[in-house]
Order: sequence, then structure tokens, then C-alpha cells
Amino acid sequence: NSLLTLHAQQIGSLLELVIFSIALGSRIRLAQHAQQLAQEQLYANEHQLRLEQAKSLDLQQQINEGLEARVEERTASLQKALQELSSANRQLAELSRHDSLTGLLNRQVLNEELERMLAQAKRSQRPLAMLMMDLDHFKKVNDQHGHLVGDACLQHTALRMQQRMRSNDLLVRFGGEEFAAVLCDTDQSGAMDLAEQLRADLASHPCMHQGLRIDLSLSIGVYTLIPDSGSDREQLLRRADQALYQAKAAGRNKVIGYEASALDDV
Ligand code: GH3
Ligand code: MG
Ligand code: MG
Repeated sequence: NSLLTLHAQQIGSLLELVIFSIALGSRIRLAQHAQQLAQEQLYANEHQLRLEQAKSLDLQQQINEGLEARVEERTASLQKALQELSSANRQLAELSRHDSLTGLLNRQVLNEELERMLAQAKRSQRPLAMLMMDLDHFKKVNDQHGHLVGDACLQHTALRMQQRMRSNDLLVRFGGEEFAAVLCDTDQSGAMDLAEQLRADLASHPCMHQGLRIDLSLSIGVYTLIPDSGSDREQLLRRADQALYQAKAAGRNKVIGYEASALDDV
């Protein structure tokens, strides 16, 4: 019997306890290490995720900026196209008011403007004068010199007439070799004066074209009235046309005028 054998069991238990404690400690350290590794991995993953998120945000922003720039670009070019279109429309509307050969306003404008001028003269009870003008024997000009020269004569005539008109008078190419003028606030003697000036001016200024001299003359019918409720556009045109017919019948290169009262009784 020795101390060792007497306490062999306790010693054995103690040894076992020590060994188990060491083993447990080692296990705990291993588990802690594994946990630390897992945590580090988690941090790394989280960091990676944040980076990806930032990148994706960046990309999204770039796409948005690109889109905005493209939308702005498209809007600007659309606006430009719209402006061009409306300016083309204005040009077209302006062109449709003019006669392409002489540049004078056309008959359509006369119809519109005459209504307005008549209404104004009715309100103000001021006289209104209508002139119908027709080039004499113009067919002969075309026959002798050709249509291009005829066209140049029409341009020449329009230009000379326009130079004598006041700014608020209306001068139009009525059709073919016919022109019409409406003079606001102009009585019979004023209208006859202007018509006579137009006639004399063209008669004394032939059209010079490519070395050719083409003598031209105008017959003019004048009709003047202070419009009342019964006056209308057709009446004005018809009466001025009748006066023109008289001017032709009287031998051409003439001015014939009527005042409303004198003719309306006929
Ligand atoms: P009148 O003295 O009776 O008016 O005789 P006229 O020959 O002038 O009249 P008519 O109606 O017989 O002929 C008009 C001529 O005007 C015929 C046509 O060829 C010409 N004419 C009309 N429009 C134009 C045009 O745009 N250019 C040219 N060159 N001639 C035109
Ligand atoms: Mg004619
Ligand atoms: Mg004629």
C-alpha cells in the first residue's frame, strides 16, 4: 500500500479532469476561431455587397443622366422642328396670299379685305373707291413677243402701279392681265385722279425688256360709294367692272368712273 495506490482513483479522476479541461479549452478555442473566421467572412461579404451596391447606384445614375441628356436633346430637336414647321406654315400662308408672278396680293385677299374695308366704311360713313384695271390688247403682246415677254410686261405694270399706291390702299392682281384696287377714304374725284395717274404713268412708261420696247396701256373703271346697309362686295365689283367695260368701249387707254347714286338708279 503506497500513497499512490491508495489514492490511485482520485489521481486518475484528477488526471481525467485535467485532460478533459485541456480538451474542452482546445475545443472552445477552435470554436472561437471558427466563429471569428465566419465573422470576418461576413464582414468581407458585406463590404463586397456595399461596393456592388455603390457601383450599381453609380451605373443607375449614369443611365439616368444619359437618358435625361437624350430626352433634352430630343426635346430640343423637336422644338426646333416645330419652330421650323410653324415658320414654314407662316411662309406658306404668306405665299398663298400673293400672286407668284407679280408679287401683288391675289384675288382671295381682295375678297377678304374688301369685306373688312366695306364694313369699316359703313361704320365711318366715309367713301370707298374700287378700281378695275385691264391691260389693253394684251393678247397681241403675247402673240407678237411670246408669253415670257408678256409676263415681264405684267411685272412691269404691277411695279408701276404699286409705286403710286398709298400704304392703306389695296392693290391685287385680279386675274390674267386684270388688276383691282380698293382705296379707303377716297371720294370720286380722288379716285379718278389716281386712276388717271395710273393710266398716264403706264402709257408714258413702256416695258423695256431685253432690248425690246413694249408700249402698254390700261383701261380703268372706277366706282365710288359711301356704303349703306345694302352695299356689298359684289355690287362694288360689278359696278367697277361695268365702268371698265365702258372704258374699253370708249376706245381703251381711258378712265371711266361712276358714283353710287348716279348708277344705282339705272
Ligand atoms: P382687251 O383690250 O379687250 O382687254 O384685249 P386683251 O387682248 O387684253 O384681252 P383678252 O381677254 O382677249 O386677252 C387677255 C390676254 O392676257 C390673253 C392671255 O394670254 C393673257 N394673259 C393672261 N394671263 C397671263 C399671264 O399670266 N402671262 C401672260 N404672258 N399672258 C397672260
Ligand atoms: Mg381681261
Ligand atoms: Mg385686256
